[in-house]
Amino acid sequence: MKLVIASRNQHKIKEIKAILGQISDLEIVSLDDCAVPEINEDQDTFLGNASKKALETAQYIHETVLADDSGLMVDALGGAPGVYSARYAGAGATSRQLCEKLLRELKDIPAARRTACFTTVLVLASPRKILHTAEGSCAGLIAETPRGDNGFGYDPVFYFPPLGKTFAELSSEEKNTHSHRRRALENLFIQLKSKFSDEH
Ligand code: IMP
Repeated sequence: MKLVIASRNQHKIKEIKAILGQISDLEIVSLDDCAVPEINEDQDTFLGNASKKALETAQYIHETVLADDSGLMVDALGGAPGVYSARYAGAGATSRQLCEKLLRELKDIPAARRTACFTTVLVLASPRKILHTAEGSCAGLIAETPRGDNGFGYDPVFYFPPLGKTFAELSSEEKNTHSHRRRALENLFIQLKSKFSDEH
């Protein structure tokens, strides 16, 4: 079965493809392979944006589509940048600019209060309706300085205590084993498997 991922973020697509390659035999197609207009992510929740991306894309290409909306929530900032993670340092900001802005905002916050959480919300939609939604999250701490060159976005400042490294210091296999995206995809597949077994 073919599944279109409603994203143009190459990092996300690569991670989703790698994780799905481990847990399914789906063929993954990205939006780069389809002519779809840009979708305005103007909702104020991950679920709202992921639903909008999935449904509008599915209606446009007449296929089942999977959309991911994700971001970083920092407790000391009241959950910011959250749904605005991509635009936190202005439109088109680089990973370095995002990390620098976050570290400036947390400059006086001690280690114990630098708790944070990455969240991914996935929505699977047909052209007619939303079929399934799933969420995954991963808890960590915001480091004092960026470390590592792998990954994207806030990975260099997201310290993951169980492995004692930032996400950007992990190999892609390690990140894809522990990430919010992995957990969300596993939750989605638990639902799909139980639906499939109920129907057969
Ligand atoms: P959106 O889901 O395309 O709206 O953007 C999510 C933004 O959150 C990305 O541009 C990144 O800045 C950040 N983000 C989401 N997932 C990750 C991740 O796995 N690592 C680092 N940053 C992430």
